[in-house]
Amino acid sequence: MAVQDLPELSPSEMRRFGRHLVLPEFGLERQRRLKAGSVLLVGAGGLGSPTALYLAAAGVGRIGLVDPDVVEETNLQRQIAHGHSTLGRQKTESAAQRMRDLNPDVVVERHDVFLTVENALEIIAGYDVVVDGTDNFPTRYLVNDACAKLGKPNVFGGVLRFDGQVSVFDASRGPCYRCVFPEPPPSELAPNCAEAGVLGVLPGVIGALQATEAIKLLSGLGEPLIGRLLVYDGLDLSFQTVDLMKASGCPCCSGRPEDIVLRETRMVCSAPTVGGSLSADELQTRLDAGEPILLLDVRNPPEWAGGTIPGALQLSKPDIDQAVQAVLHEGAAREGTSLAAIPRDRDVVVYCQSGMRSSAVIRELVAAGYEASRLLNLDRGFSAWVGRNT
Ligand SMILES: [Zn+2]
Repeated sequence: MAVQDLPELSPSEMRRFGRHLVLPEFGLERQRRLKAGSVLLVGAGGLGSPTALYLAAAGVGRIGLVDPDVVEETNLQRQIAHGHSTLGRQKTESAAQRMRDLNPDVVVERHDVFLTVENALEIIAGYDVVVDGTDNFPTRYLVNDACAKLGKPNVFGGVLRFDGQVSVFDASRGPCYRCVFPEPPPSELAPNCAEAGVLGVLPGVIGALQATEAIKLLSGLGEPLIGRLLVYDGLDLSFQTVDLMKASGCPCCSGRPEDIVLRETRMVCSAPTVGGSLSADELQTRLDAGEPILLLDVRNPPEWAGGTIPGALQLSKPDIDQAVQAVLHEGAAREGTSLAAIPRDRDVVVYCQSGMRSSAVIRELVAAGYEASRLLNLDRGFSAWVGRNT
């Protein structure tokens, strides 16, 4: 945008952004570019929280938030845009309230939806820069492909346990996410933060770096992290930068951007599937019919506290792992372990949050002598149960 077309700052904005204006490298013009700019945050959780707050505070004019979830107590260990006063409310609403408190002039646009193949282009097209704060691979590939098609820079961030990564994927100027990670890893190697845990401050570190890149892209400051992956190790407290290359044959970078077709990414499990599966609706039908099914919830206690299927036996995957190890390697009797609570003479429906941990549990139970035909995995887990039609 030409300088004369940039919006002027009000007297209160001149005061609020004074610390930017005195930086010779930043100054009034870049502040006006922030005011003219827009950023879409995909996810208003761990990464989206610090990003949303810093971008609002920095004076970005318009910020979109995509998140279908409501604030839960387990979020507050790291999702600092939310608080006890907003438990149970939409995350977009909760974050917007804090953002407007930091900067009453910011325009916050709420998208209380999952980003999907159907809505991604329409939502992303309305913004200058996209910040990817998702915690799952299908959405990450969708954000990448939509940004490549529309020519938008995508500020990527990822966190797990103590480690994080940041890059700026911009298919018009450098590699995209698919150039670097052509396929999602097998589902059993791709735990999310709920399953593997995350140090609460980690998304703060990575999200603040994503906010830095978004501010640089909008204002034209410095060198964006295009073609480089920043790798953060929280235990050593070290940063490393790895150079990234465009991949020949990348479906997003090898043809014309307008020909990119958005597709659903399916996570595949490289381990053989064992036992059967059923959908949330099928489970409801069988429960309604009074079938003597045992429900086995293999999530962790904090996840149980957030809701469960009534009547389910709660045995976390680590407990089951340990019991199976004892039976297989130490010759312990099944009856002396937590496996004793899992019956062998009726159907057992095993579920976790997404269906991944539960399918691993089914493989273990079969190894420990359970009949595969009696074990059923709930497709897409408790998430599907909560979202079922009935
Ligand atoms: Zn690519």
